[in-house]
Amino acid sequence: MTSSEKILHADIVIHDAMVLTMDKERRFIKRGSVAIVGDEIADVGDADWIAARYRARRTIDGQNKILMPGLINVHTHAPMTIYRGVADDIPLKEWLYDHIFPLEAKFSSNPENLKAGMRLAIAEMLLSGTTMFKDMYYFTDQLGAVVAETGMRAMLSEALFDNATPSNGGGEKTLQYIDAAIRNWKDHPLVQQAVAAHATYTVSPEFIVKAKDLARRHDTMFSVHLSENQWEVDTIREMYGATPVKHLERLHVLDRQTLAIHCVMLSDEDVDILAETSTGVAHSPQCNMKLANGAAPVPELLRRGVHVGVGTDGVASNNDLDMFDEIRTMSLLHKLSSNSTTVVSAKEAVEMATIIGAKAIGYDDKIGSLEKGKKADLILINVDKPHSKPLYNVYSSLVYSLRSSDVDTVIVNGDVLVEQRQLLKMDLSGVYEDIERIAHDISAFL
Ligand SMILES: [Zn+2]
Repeated sequence: MTSSEKILHADIVIHDAMVLTMDKERRFIKRGSVAIVGDEIADVGDADWIAARYRARRTIDGQNKILMPGLINVHTHAPMTIYRGVADDIPLKEWLYDHIFPLEAKFSSNPENLKAGMRLAIAEMLLSGTTMFKDMYYFTDQLGAVVAETGMRAMLSEALFDNATPSNGGGEKTLQYIDAAIRNWKDHPLVQQAVAAHATYTVSPEFIVKAKDLARRHDTMFSVHLSENQWEVDTIREMYGATPVKHLERLHVLDRQTLAIHCVMLSDEDVDILAETSTGVAHSPQCNMKLANGAAPVPELLRRGVHVGVGTDGVASNNDLDMFDEIRTMSLLHKLSSNSTTVVSAKEAVEMATIIGAKAIGYDDKIGSLEKGKKADLILINVDKPHSKPLYNVYSSLVYSLRSSDVDTVIVNGDVLVEQRQLLKMDLSGVYEDIERIAHDISAFL
């Protein structure tokens, strides 16, 4: 620094960490620092250079820690934490129609239950290094306030069905609800509302097109569960004479602002369509495995340049919201199913949980990498433990040996939300009390 350069102010400097930027060059700075001003990253660079350039109101010691972008969970149903473990090891259709839908009709129709489930989910996600999640569930307009109070970042989508849902009348009524929710949360710094149709077998072509039109009018994402299993493919073929992907292409709803969730059963033509339309994909390997749906052709989608993000899906089919767990499973699953050690490398897995995930949901201008001008969503991971030593390759460590319980500090939008593994803004005992009360009622219903 020359004497003519003046000292700059920063609210927070994270000093002397191993900084994995996930920027275009995928820079890894062995002794690096990040300066935060307000809700944004002001600078990323060599630790001595940042120390000479910035005077920080607060300095966080990054020694023996990896500093990286917060993980992005591109698909979940967060309030479903209230159903964790209620129905496991059951065939898919029976699981959905005999267990999940009846439970939801009774307990998801009370927004207070979902608020409690949402708080539990956010606590779990923050403590495991997730800083942003894309959700599809009910009462999203009301649940936005819960997300905002915790300081977490989320894109919430009310689930559209043709028929009534636990939260509203379905069809036009749900579209009106979504339209109002989007307007109510427009320009909020943490919460955005978007549009979701549940699936091609629960939403008619008329309402899929109307939902996508609504998303286009608001310039926001449209998401839909798509090609999750063979039963769905057979059903849609019978109903519309096409694969689920081809069916949506014919409806002209696939583009870079559409997120197709699952995409397990894809024909070669389906892969072509997703690549050519720049449709994003949400991949949930643990859910796909647990429900015995199969292995999505992720290596092929990545080869074709499709933006594939990672989502845990809801905990009724996972049963946690742990992204570390998810990316390790993902990388191992595809090696096994492809009989190839080179597919879904550790580096690709980290990319999918950060910058590629951000691209899949149209958020890469704001998050997904540590770069000047992006939102300050970052995590510090403690590598001063037996299972993390030695550290030769940061991607290998993150995917194959580190754990979510190694996450030490979590910052969202410039706010420190977790420090030394403690939630600073949430009262966990209050969250547990609410959850136990709801679980008591649900147990009596089972
Ligand atoms: Zn889902």
